[in-house]
Amino acid sequence: MTEYTRRQRLTEELKNGWICIRALSIRYKFPEKVIADDIKHIKKSISHRGKLMIKPAECINCGFVFKEREKIKSPSKCPECKSERIMECLFMIVEK
Ligand SMILES: [Zn+2]
Repeated sequence: MTEYTRRQRLTEELKNGWICIRALSIRYKFPEKVIADDIKHIKKSISHRGKLMIKPAECINCGFVFKEREKIKSPSKCPECKSERIMECLFMIVEK
């Protein structure tokens, strides 16, 4: 699968509703890092056709929301309670 094709397929997948990087990684058999880079790229390139919505990662234990986090990849640990039970960032594309 070429990089272009992969990003096209991810874009289509993201139009279907909220999904996390881990699920995309399992579905398309690419490392999470590759998927995260693709999402970054999609975020930049999609602007005239739609908008990439991001639901920030959240700590399941204490409810801390990682709002200010710029990185696409979900954090592994909560800075508040140190819990590693993190609900991953979710992504979705809303078309214009
Ligand atoms: Zn927490």
